[in-house]
Amino acid sequence: MSGAQLAILTVIVLLGTATAGVPLQRYEALLKQQSAPTDDQLGLYDENDKVVQLSVANFNETVLEQNHGSLVEFYNTYCGHCRRFAPTYKQVAEQLYSWQDVVIVGAIDCAAEENNGICRTYEVMGYPTLRYMGPGFQPSVKNYGQDLKSQDPAEIRSLLAGFLAAENLTSSTNNTYWPNFHHVTENDSTSTIFEGLSSLREFVALVYEPENSTLGIETALFLLQWPALQVRRVSDLTAASKFKIDPTSHQLSIVDRKGDITPYAPAEQTGPSYSETIRLALGKKNITPRPEKAEIQHAAVTANGEKAEHKAILEEVHRNKHFVYQADLEQAIRTVLHNEVPKVNEIGGERLLALQRFLGVLQRYNPLGHNGNQMLSKLKDYVVQFNQELTGKQFEQELQRLESQLSPIYSSTHFVGCTGSSPNLRGFSCSLWTLFHFMTVQAAENEDSLDPLEVLQAMHGYIKNFFGCTECADHFQAMASRRKIWSVPNKEEAVLWLWAAHNEVNQRLAGDNTEDPQFPKIQFPSEKSCSQCYRTPGSTSDKMEINWNKDAVLSFLKNINNPQFVSRYGVQREDLLHATAEKMRQKRQISSVFSDMDMRMGMLLYAFCIVMMVVAFKLFAFKGYRKKPYGHDLLGKV
Ligand SMILES: Cc1cc2nc3c(=O)[nH]c(=O)nc-3n(C[C@H](O)[C@H](O)[C@H](O)COP(=O)(O)OP(=O)(O)OC[C@H]3O[C@@H](n4cnc5c(N)ncnc54)[C@H](O)[C@@H]3O)c2cc1C
Repeated sequence: MSGAQLAILTVIVLLGTATAGVPLQRYEALLKQQSAPTDDQLGLYDENDKVVQLSVANFNETVLEQNHGSLVEFYNTYCGHCRRFAPTYKQVAEQLYSWQDVVIVGAIDCAAEENNGICRTYEVMGYPTLRYMGPGFQPSVKNYGQDLKSQDPAEIRSLLAGFLAAENLTSSTNNTYWPNFHHVTENDSTSTIFEGLSSLREFVALVYEPENSTLGIETALFLLQWPALQVRRVSDLTAASKFKIDPTSHQLSIVDRKGDITPYAPAEQTGPSYSETIRLALGKKNITPRPEKAEIQHAAVTANGEKAEHKAILEEVHRNKHFVYQADLEQAIRTVLHNEVPKVNEIGGERLLALQRFLGVLQRYNPLGHNGNQMLSKLKDYVVQFNQELTGKQFEQELQRLESQLSPIYSSTHFVGCTGSSPNLRGFSCSLWTLFHFMTVQAAENEDSLDPLEVLQAMHGYIKNFFGCTECADHFQAMASRRKIWSVPNKEEAVLWLWAAHNEVNQRLAGDNTEDPQFPKIQFPSEKSCSQCYRTPGSTSDKMEINWNKDAVLSFLKNINNPQFVSRYGVQREDLLHATAEKMRQKRQISSVFSDMDMRMGMLLYAFCIVMMVVAFKLFAFKGYRKKPYGHDLLGKV
């Protein structure tokens, strides 16, 4: 079953009435158009959020050359930090929903392969990234929008307000909803502030805005849907006092067309509080906003078959918690090649070296079948020929070319061991750990490999330069130098180094809100999976520091990562795997049956036998030659 088949089907039922504003209708339409992500593991936002789901299908028409601005979050579904930030961003979108006539709040999932091109074009270097793109925006070299470096809702709001007010709007923006952000001056009066306003505007609210504040801008944006009102900013003290504003007690006032001024004291020095004060004041005068936005109700229906398959996978994984699954290893490789690498715009210098190293290791220790091995080998050769720079686009094109030439490559299409109990949990980052553990073990079992650091170094370079979870990459690098990754003495210690490092991450993330409740972060392996790994029984339940039996841990890791024992549950094309698995199996059987010493003794014995056979042959031949005078040839014929 494909990702699309497993994807949650959604039915969107639009209730209520449409609204009067043109931009509002378009925004509603954008929210309405949102379709379910193409993969059930993808997408942190759904139809119930006020976040416009952007993708390659609608990005340009929604963000470029519009008469509104856009706040766009570039995120990766599998990045823990993005997941943690998602509720905050939903809150931001909810709060800024009333700003929609001039700015929309959207998000694009860079973990979705289809969006590679957009994420690459916008040179997103870390996740999540928030960018503001103004009205009329077109990307160009060195202009991919303006970064909002904050994850605090109030600060995001304030930064966004600053960007919107700074727009040098001309009539070409053609947005009649854009507020008048110009300051009221001491020359203004109760009549000049109504000049040029439509007769619908019965009131002007003046908001005192101290330096470095965006209170007035925010208030104006929060009240866009009140056609009877215009909000203006005042910073000049003389002008403020003219309109009965006292910055210490009454920070805003409302002026009507008759010239009456009423000052107000908002409860808090925030945009929401100022706008609420004005709303209440207008409400008392029976002034109402534009008709309420249409209520959108969504009903998500999940096809029974898909639910059943998900349930069956979870049951399988719960039965065999420590298994390594072929499907997860393949999904990791697929995501790395199709998504993580191609979305990097320029791959040069250290990055290029990291990619070459990573592909070298992947080519040697991957779990794919014959076609996959061929593809990886050719891909590595292609990348190795670059010594200056390669672009993500070139990489993507070559990958596509090779895959269509050598297809089918993958035997499965879904996560199994890394399936989360609900969408967005676990997935790629789980499979990436799994792949690296697998590769450290394959390297340890491979006699030709002499460099103890080959997999760890490739992993370090990959995580630093390509892993889309920026926070994870930073933590990992700090941990790697603290745990002295470059001093790991041999390949078996490399297996254990990664195991211990992963356990440190598990410990740090245990109880975190990104944790899947059905798969709590434990010190791995659990005592149930490997009792010999624990020198002191019961130490996990007693919360004591675990006294590991590292020899037992090593053989446990070698066992679960033995290609012979890697589970093929969920694999649809087993035929693709036979050749490789058999090859690996034979290789491993030889190395597991005989120790190094056995092998050397065997070689000696073999050499000795050959020498003995040569000597015996010579003796025999010599004797045969001596017998010839008696009338036989070598075959005994007379
Ligand atoms: C290099 C790296 C760094 C990361 N750093 C962060 C971070 O800083 N913050 C953050 O929020 N998320 C981070 N993540 C993601 C996080 O570690 C998990 O991958 C994610 O939360 C999904 O967890 P999971 O429950 O699926 O299990 P994972 O921790 O992903 O483990 C996957 C599987 O590996 C096996 N396993 C678990 N522990 C071990 C071990 N010690 N040795 C061998 N096998 C083991 C288990 O079978 C498990 O199901 C990082 C991921 C990677 C690859």
